[in-house]
Amino acid sequence: MREIDVKVITEKVRDLCMEANTDLGEDVFQAFDRAMEKEESPLGLDILKELKENARIAKEEKVPICQDTGSAVVFLELGQDVHLVGGDLRDAIFDGVRQGFRNGYLRKSICHPFTRANTGDNTPAIIHTEIVAGDKLRITIAPKGGGAENMSRVVMLTPSDGVEGIKRFVVQRVREAGSNPCPPTIVGIGIGGNFEESALLAKKSLLRPLGSKNPDLELDRLEGEILAEINKLGIGPQGLGGRTTSLGVHILMMPCHIASFPLAVNVQCHVHRHKEALI
Ligand code: SF4
Repeated sequence: MREIDVKVITEKVRDLCMEANTDLGEDVFQAFDRAMEKEESPLGLDILKELKENARIAKEEKVPICQDTGSAVVFLELGQDVHLVGGDLRDAIFDGVRQGFRNGYLRKSICHPFTRANTGDNTPAIIHTEIVAGDKLRITIAPKGGGAENMSRVVMLTPSDGVEGIKRFVVQRVREAGSNPCPPTIVGIGIGGNFEESALLAKKSLLRPLGSKNPDLELDRLEGEILAEINKLGIGPQGLGGRTTSLGVHILMMPCHIASFPLAVNVQCHVHRHKEALI
């Protein structure tokens, strides 16, 4: 059994919150470049250039990529041979979020649902924990902006809706979302499981590097077909027209109940932030 002191977890979470909010991944920069090669709208092209330049300045000057620095979504893959010592895991993560958002001058965006009173430190974080084999802990922080999250949906389709039903729902969702999720977006799709699992699959699918192939060939083909349909909508960068409405579509799927066909769409904006650490 390997011991990990939760103080180390607090430090990692603190650093990852700041890194994720300032340092967009190379995969997103490359996706901007690919989109600029194809974008036919002059305005759309200008916007893509501005978005890339904004991300470059944020990286170099270590300032937030967007004013909405998001809710702190934390994915943990906790090895079953790890013994956590020195305190409570949840408290340690919340402390890391508090410190990261304070030290990084990141906007605190979490509030009471009724009174809208701000909690003042961006907690509570949303924590998803998976117990895995081994004696390591992987922490991934994926700050999520409100504009994109608001455009996400879960629907319980009927089994007879089939693959065509998935395509119809996802493309319609992106059409209705319009400019609200600050396109170009990345569309995360969760298929199967049940109501809550499909939503988690959709969000987790966004952690795959942008531009990478889905290891499931059938899903890879479906991702390409849905992306092509989305990019025919003409919404374009920031909703001002063009062919780059989305930079990618990612799908995760698992079996489901014989009576059900759960589908979740998690819309992610171009500020496609996530960073991870392995302890
Ligand atoms: S949706 Fe994304 S780009 Fe738009 S304001 Fe929120 S975090 Fe920023």
